Amino acid sequence: MHEVSIMDQTLDIALNEATRQGASQIHRLTVRVGTLSGVVPDALRFAFDVVAKDTIAEQAKFEIETVTARCYCQNCNQDFYPEDIIFVCPHCGTLSSQVLNGKELELSSLEVS
Ligand SMILES: [Zn+2]
Repeated sequence: MHEVSIMDQTLDIALNEATRQGASQIHRLTVRVGTLSGVVPDALRFAFDVVAKDTIAEQAKFEIETVTARCYCQNCNQDFYPEDIIFVCPHCGTLSSQVLNGKELELSSLEVS
């Protein structure tokens, strides 16, 4: 499963950071997931349970922060929120090639001790 390898990498970053801070426990871990990232939040939660087992993150609260897709229209000179994966500006109908948000897939915060 795609999400397991993503979660594995994300947890690695978290564990390294915890080690760097001299922590022995991860309490909370938040991941920022864009709606265009192709990741299914439920699958990510499941993946977290799998990869966090027997690590210092096993008891951690896992949270997902969803980031809505946002594009920029060069024609209207403003941002818009596409309703679909086809980024057509709702104001003028121009196809946007600039995606500002929505592709995020990153660790956004970590609480350790
Ligand atoms: Zn437009």
